[in-house]
Amino acid sequence: MSETIVETSTETEASGSGHASKYTRNQPYSSKVQVNRLLTGPESEKETIHIEMELEEGMDYTPGDALGVIPTNRDEAVQAVLKALGFDGTERVLDHYKVEISFLEALTSRLGIGKLARGSVNQYAKLAGENAPEALKALTGPANKAVAEEYVWGREFIDLITEFPGIIKNPQELFNVLQRLTPRMYSIASSQAAHPNQVQLTVRVVRYNSHGMERQGVTSGLLGERAPVGEMLPVFLHENNAFRLPEDTNAPIIMIGPGTGIAPFRAFLEHREALGHKGDNWLFFGEQRSVSDYLYKEQFLAMHASGLLTKLHTAFSRDQEKKIYVQDRMRENSAELYAWLERGAYFYVCGDATRMAKDVEQALLDTIALGSNGTLEQANEYLAAMKKQKRYQRDVY
Ligand SMILES: Cc1cc2nc3c(=O)[nH]c(=O)nc-3n(C[C@H](O)[C@H](O)[C@H](O)COP(=O)(O)OP(=O)(O)OC[C@H]3O[C@@H](n4cnc5c(N)ncnc54)[C@H](O)[C@@H]3O)c2cc1C
Repeated sequence: MSETIVETSTETEASGSGHASKYTRNQPYSSKVQVNRLLTGPESEKETIHIEMELEEGMDYTPGDALGVIPTNRDEAVQAVLKALGFDGTERVLDHYKVEISFLEALTSRLGIGKLARGSVNQYAKLAGENAPEALKALTGPANKAVAEEYVWGREFIDLITEFPGIIKNPQELFNVLQRLTPRMYSIASSQAAHPNQVQLTVRVVRYNSHGMERQGVTSGLLGERAPVGEMLPVFLHENNAFRLPEDTNAPIIMIGPGTGIAPFRAFLEHREALGHKGDNWLFFGEQRSVSDYLYKEQFLAMHASGLLTKLHTAFSRDQEKKIYVQDRMRENSAELYAWLERGAYFYVCGDATRMAKDVEQALLDTIALGSNGTLEQANEYLAAMKKQKRYQRDVY
């Protein structure tokens, strides 16, 4: 899920975008990985990497844009599915465009064999028809939605075909059962004003253990494990005019970017630095532990020392007994935060949509209410006005 709140902004030096649309998700650019390094330390519970990839002359992006990465499934995962289905991969199938390809290719680059969708379970049961096992039938239909949701959580296609084998008779049937393997978006973490022919990303490698198996996200896993320097990856630029630096280069900005939410703000800051923009910059970054999870620490400290980052606040939740998050740091600084808003500051949020974005919005509303001696209702009106002026922008996923 991605949400961006403001409408399309106009094109200007600071906010405009005019990137080459020659490459698209259907006709991606093959980009060479130039750097792939771990940002998190050995003590971290997470694995977050920094990737630099080469772009062709004319492939232009603007801070706030994202990069689409087209994944392939891991060989091990593909082989496990082939084995469980009793095929060898040389079978011929028609892809989504009715082009004939091998079943191996279909499983590698066309079909989403990763995280299981409820719709796939339904389709799979439909294929089995009357002969479907009772336990499989019990996962279908509107009445069993909640049970099915619980079943698919943490499971992949391999789990379904292992538990309920013998249903797929023809490889082509998988095109009715599985979703397409789709590109994933990553906020661009660099400015082209600083890195002309490059795009840089901050990627959290999704790994988890569920139902007795080690699992990984298909695309972040690819970037983490199968994208060494020199590797070529199919990518495309994705414009996001709803997440842009202010047109007024002197306008102050407040950036809330915990975890990988930091990515576009690194781009914003590099951009303002490279172009000598004078607006004040205030960054809130949060993660679990300062020792292992302070992403781009040296760069941000240097930006703070040089004065580019007017203010820098960090919140490391696990550094002390009581968890501290970015919204707590906002509350601690609410008087000054409100003063910045009154000065016309733009307020940006990027990162986790499920909890962080809501908690940050609540802290923002409380800040406004407190600062203006007003009610929460008045604070909501203030925020609505900010949205209208494009001074409240979110890119959350
Ligand atoms: C506009 C936008 C910008 C983004 N920017 C960034 C960015 O800068 N950096 C970044 O890292 N990501 C970013 N993302 C997220 C990114 O696009 C991917 O969604 C993310 O990398 C996971 O994709 P994947 O292919 O690795 O995992 P998938 O194969 O899609 O698997 C992820 C799924 O695995 C399941 N899962 C994950 N953890 C568990 C668990 N513990 N237990 C059970 N199931 C679990 C969940 O169903 C989850 O949806 C962005 C997304 C959007 C929309």
